[in-house]
Amino acid sequence: MKTKAVQTAAPVPACGFQRGTWECRGDGYLWDADCDGWDPAENDNPCPCCNTMEYLQRAKDEAESCSYYSNNGSSGTGEDIWLNCLSWAEAANPEGLPEILRQIGPVEALIDDPSAPDGYIVRTNNAEVTP
Ligand SMILES: [Zn+2]
Repeated sequence: MKTKAVQTAAPVPACGFQRGTWECRGDGYLWDADCDGWDPAENDNPCPCCNTMEYLQRAKDEAESCSYYSNNGSSGTGEDIWLNCLSWAEAANPEGLPEILRQIGPVEALIDDPSAPDGYIVRTNNAEVTP
C-alpha cells in the first residue's frame, strides 16, 4: 500500500492568494485549507495570482471544450468559465494580465444554444489581442 505524501506548509513563501478556504501553496497551485494538507503531486488548481498563465490556459481549454456545465448549484456556458476565470486573474494579477492574454490569444468559447444545429454556438473572446 502506498502512503500518500501530504504537505501542510509551503516549501517557498506563498504569494498570499486566497479565495474562500482555497489558498496558494507557494508552488503555483492552490489547496483547500479545510483539508489536513495536500499531495505535492496534485496540481489541479493553478493559482490565478502567481501561475496566471496556466490558470488561464486551463480556463481556455475548458471554455473551448464545454458548452454548458452545472455543479454544486452553479451552472453556465463555456464562455462563463472563461469570463469567471478572467475576472479572478484580473483581480489577482492586473499587471501581468495584458502580456499573458496576448500569449494566450483568441478563446473560441462555446455557448449552449439548443436552437443551433450543433447545440451550441462559438463566440470569440480575447479577439482584440494580436499574437
Ligand atoms: Zn500563488
